[in-house]
Amino acid sequence: MTAGSRPRAPLAALRHVVRTRPAHRAGERCDMCATSTGAEHPHVVDLESRALLCACQPCALLFADGSARQRYRTVPRRYLSLRRPALDDRAWDELQIPVGLAFLFHNSAQDRTVAFYPGPAGATESALPLRAWARAVRRNPELSLPWPDVEALLVRRSDGSCHLVPIDACYELVGRIRGVWRGFDGGQQAREAMDAFFAEVGARSRPAPPVPARSREPRPRPPRGPR
Ligand SMILES: [Zn+2]
Ligand SMILES: [Zn+2]
Repeated sequence: MTAGSRPRAPLAALRHVVRTRPAHRAGERCDMCATSTGAEHPHVVDLESRALLCACQPCALLFADGSARQRYRTVPRRYLSLRRPALDDRAWDELQIPVGLAFLFHNSAQDRTVAFYPGPAGATESALPLRAWARAVRRNPELSLPWPDVEALLVRRSDGSCHLVPIDACYELVGRIRGVWRGFDGGQQAREAMDAFFAEVGARSRPAPPVPARSREPRPRPPRGPR
């Protein structure tokens, strides 16, 4: 852990997914209204507890309007590929991300962008240096695309790749890696799991739309619902 990036407890949402993911199958219940959902169902972020809740379609629609000030926000379904490298070497160094793979997302409660990354303890979360993140976004405005709280950037240093993904996909990767992680760097199995996940995300992604450069630090807009 480098100076300036204080480790934080992993998100409650991560614990939720690790706990519930194996149970995701037909017959699962909506955490909000208790009707049964299929194995494939939307998720809703509780912005107060940071927990990720399973939802049925009607409940997900209720919280799809991110412009409303609500406690819950539905996780969108879009996957986008950003141009490479989304973060250049300078950005990686300035952001003090100590590993080669991380998820970055805007936490609206803290009003800042945080990184979390898989590791031997499951996941570690750390706030990114504010000015360094603002500089990175000025150099690459595509980094401002994710909606706060419900979408993340999945970045990998080795090939400069970056995908915008629903935030529940991040938790799924951490859950997959957690079971096979060995030693400090994860070992061969963890690397293979990450490569397989990146291939899946890449196959689902379409190119990110052009984003005009902005002169000030962008304030992410709220999501407009599932896509
Ligand atoms: Zn429901
Ligand atoms: Zn679920």
